[in-house]
Amino acid sequence: MNISSDSILRKDEFSLAELVALLGSHGGDKVNLYTRAAEIKKQFVGNKVYFRGLVELSNICSKNCLYCGIRSGNTKPQRYMVTEDEVLESARFALENGYGSMVLQSGERCDERFVATVSGLLQKIKTLSDGKLGITLSMGEQSEKTYREWFANGAHRYLLRIETSDKELYYRIHPNDSRHDFDKRIESLKLLRKIGYNVGSGVMIGLPFQTLEHLAGDLLFFKALDIDMAGMGPYIEHEDTPLYAYKDQLWPRKERFDVSLKMVALLRIMMKDINIAATTAMQAIDKQGREKALKVGANIIMPNLTPLKYREDYLLYEDKPCLDEDADECRNCLEARIHMAGDKIGFGEWGDSKHFAKRNSSSTGD
Ligand code: SAH
Ligand code: SF4
Repeated sequence: MNISSDSILRKDEFSLAELVALLGSHGGDKVNLYTRAAEIKKQFVGNKVYFRGLVELSNICSKNCLYCGIRSGNTKPQRYMVTEDEVLESARFALENGYGSMVLQSGERCDERFVATVSGLLQKIKTLSDGKLGITLSMGEQSEKTYREWFANGAHRYLLRIETSDKELYYRIHPNDSRHDFDKRIESLKLLRKIGYNVGSGVMIGLPFQTLEHLAGDLLFFKALDIDMAGMGPYIEHEDTPLYAYKDQLWPRKERFDVSLKMVALLRIMMKDINIAATTAMQAIDKQGREKALKVGANIIMPNLTPLKYREDYLLYEDKPCLDEDADECRNCLEARIHMAGDKIGFGEWGDSKHFAKRNSSSTGD
């Protein structure tokens, strides 16, 4: 198969075999892939990058995912919950600095107290910003009632990575029990769509046992689910997790990074008008990782607004960057990096997924 041929890269429907070949491309073929993705980004989403100020609200988690540094089975992190005042301080920073949106992310908790706390925070952020700040949540699997309550209180986007769309691989990277149920995760994604959220998903790249076929399948899964947003990044091992035992069998970090860039580029070609994040995990491997992702199709950045004192305890993976960089430093560093990548910042704009808007304007309302 001539994977660099223009006719292949001009398609937007790919077979699994074509995607595998493109994910494995090198040299000129790889350059052609990146060039095509950049063209499509420019044409369909433009060169504006939107900021979502990220608050890592809590590392308390009821789950025990085998890859994650804050899994419930790891006794090392000190468990925390950011206070309401601190969250509102971050919201004020976001507003004053023209970040159009925030992301509240946390470990998975479904108890009533947590659900009510999040609802209260949503209301207060909306009031403080006079409705100006858009809010994305990333808090794992919840009941329909909870998703509806949070939506009613102002959250309008939700990120829930499928982690891998291959059921067998899913159970190799999660405990095989009812709290880590692959089908429930898919159901949750469907619920979020039904309720009216902009729905985001994603996968980790370079997991133990993962192949290019799995990743090609993930791209087809995103397309079939018709997601509005994507956040993908390299898997990075963490010493205090069960999957660390496989650290010597992983692809080298550079390769995990490289394949992550190709995943971003291919998804941009396949789903032209969705929002795609340049993720922090990409920057963990390559200092210019996020700029490189912007160049091949990403259009969203999530600057970290979590108060510094909590960051050491939200280590999902090793070598997480910016642990000691406060919100101001982070802003300055990012602005320079984005301009270097040839993009502009969409100050004060929500920058919602065009894909979402298009689906809704063409839906029959059923
Ligand atoms: N608890 C929520 C949100 C917080 S975790 C949830 O799980 O959906 C956010 C993301 O961090 C996860 O979706 C996972 O893809 C990523 N993550 C966790 N451990 C990681 C690791 N070791 N390397 C790279 N990404 C990781
Ligand atoms: Fe909890 Fe999310 Fe980490 Fe899984 S990935 S252990 S749900 S924080």
